[in-house]
Amino acid sequence: MKDYPGKILEIDLSHRSISLKDIEAEMLKQYLGGIGFNARILYDQIPAGADPLGEDNVLAFAAGTLVGTPFPTASRTEASAKSPLSGQFGTSNSGAFFGLQMKTAGYDVILVKGQSSDPVYIAVEDDKIQILDAAFLWGRECWETVDILEQKHYGAEIALIGPAGENLVRFASIENGRYDGWGRSGLGAVMGSKKLKAITIKGSRGRKVHNHTDLLDASRKGQQLIKSASSYMAFTEYGTLNASITYGKNKAISAHNFTLGTLPNWKEIGGRQIVDKYGSRHVACQSCIIACGHWAEIKEGKYAGVKVKDLEITPVMSFGATVGLGTEAIIKASELCQRYGVDMVSAGGVLGFAIELFQKGILSQEEVGYELDFGDDEAAFKLLEQIVNRKGIGDLLAEGTKRAAEQIEQGERYAIHIKGMEIPMIDPRGRWSTWTLGMLTNIRGGDHLRCRNPVENLRYNDRDEDYMKERFGFKQSMYDRLDMPEEQKSKAINLENDTVDIPEMSKWAEDLINLFNSVGICIRPPVMEKVGPGIIAEAVRAYIGLDITPAELAQSSERAWNLIKLFNLREGEEADASKFPRRFYEEEIDGEKLDESKIQAVLERYYQVRGWDSQSGRPEAQTLRRLNLMWASSETRDSDEENCD
Ligand code: SF4
Repeated sequence: MKDYPGKILEIDLSHRSISLKDIEAEMLKQYLGGIGFNARILYDQIPAGADPLGEDNVLAFAAGTLVGTPFPTASRTEASAKSPLSGQFGTSNSGAFFGLQMKTAGYDVILVKGQSSDPVYIAVEDDKIQILDAAFLWGRECWETVDILEQKHYGAEIALIGPAGENLVRFASIENGRYDGWGRSGLGAVMGSKKLKAITIKGSRGRKVHNHTDLLDASRKGQQLIKSASSYMAFTEYGTLNASITYGKNKAISAHNFTLGTLPNWKEIGGRQIVDKYGSRHVACQSCIIACGHWAEIKEGKYAGVKVKDLEITPVMSFGATVGLGTEAIIKASELCQRYGVDMVSAGGVLGFAIELFQKGILSQEEVGYELDFGDDEAAFKLLEQIVNRKGIGDLLAEGTKRAAEQIEQGERYAIHIKGMEIPMIDPRGRWSTWTLGMLTNIRGGDHLRCRNPVENLRYNDRDEDYMKERFGFKQSMYDRLDMPEEQKSKAINLENDTVDIPEMSKWAEDLINLFNSVGICIRPPVMEKVGPGIIAEAVRAYIGLDITPAELAQSSERAWNLIKLFNLREGEEADASKFPRRFYEEEIDGEKLDESKIQAVLERYYQVRGWDSQSGRPEAQTLRRLNLMWASSETRDSDEENCD
């Protein structure tokens, strides 16, 4: 493969310079695109120990390899930088149409380096790249900013920040137009620290396709596979809301800052009827045949006139369960987060934490200025407004749960996070699975979106004594159809015992999702169940002519995962950081609490499966050699030694 057309666009805001770099064939084969490119580039470009809100941090947007093709769901762009929330590799994935415009403008990656002294925005239209004054936009909320920029740059897609990003709230999001976003990891604060309000992008150049017929064949095959998934119909109808009632039944929701497991009226608050009652039409990202998003509109009452896209499980869990709000207040909370530019999961987590502290008498009315209670939408929204503007107690809470807890006497006991990141929705005391182990092993901290058993069966909720297994619960035909190498499949699934081996499946699932985030396809269940390296290799070969096998694709994704782990180790990740919040080990929900030593044993098995040291979680030399990462290993060790001095 030669003359790959995608370029790396590098913009240095300190020096106001713009440069272009080619993407070499070897880089493409080793790292594919999306998160793979970000991992490789940021490992090199962000110096060890860099201040996430300082000049040395680098913000990368990388469209997935298949974005711009008709391959189903190929719409996704990964944004990454060092996270101001976790201090480790921060990364987030978003769909819609931003990646398509990047590709048609000619760029696979946009890198933003340095810091501007005054507010600016970057306008890209094919090869016309401008750094423009954004004083007239600074201080405006996201939807207003989109309205203005759409007028000035007709047809462009826009990545932008709101007040939360400008005010360096550590869990600020980057919004992707009005309704989508790169939510997790606090990347909006990185943009704010660079005084970068927005990037507008518009492309008009097509991409040369290596083999049109094969690409259409692979795309059609991908569509048929997704349509045949057992979860397809339910997902097209109700999206992610399909699962919320089941999690409530399992006492596995984040109710009232993870104190209750479920809520008495959970079915009314968080069920699929939200779509029936408030949804008007389906919305899809580029090339998607699932269209899991819905327009929601509140027609009457206190929040009449609120209109948002996406009635989905994230705001329902964050604001319905964690904060205890009712359905219409959840929809309003989604709107507020999108306008402020703040991550819904972390925002709900921080609010839940503050409310519990108030209820326990640890935060006083004097400190807050008013009363806080679960279910009180007006107080929650007032506090959210204070957080995004860093006013009063909001200034402390804008630092995120972990940092705020360290400043509040007795606060740490109620702080729900892993590695500094507020954890979402699923309480592992109620449901232990590959998914919940994945919150511990996630390379971006406490989060549920980087590891999930591709055939998770929500009808069952049983695990073995040792936490090592979950129920498979499907027939042999499901097993046979999985796009997974036979050797891996037989290690991860035992058909005879009807079990899934959680550590084995976790590795496979993480690498699979990392592969999706590299090639730019969506991780929704109908895709995960049916799409794997086999069909992806066909599409990649047809689109860009890269001679790559399914095994090489899987290894590229594993390579990027390991490189991000090395990034985190270089930034000082400690082995004992992979722990659930203390509450999960000490306080029961419905008679269940986690057994710390058993979970530690599962974690150690997972490290072994990954080829990492079972105690430290550091990739072993032979693993790095196999993945062609020895160059990074020595750098990590040097830096560790320096840190010890
Ligand atoms: S399934 Fe939903 S989130 Fe995923 S690409 Fe389709 S519309 Fe977008």
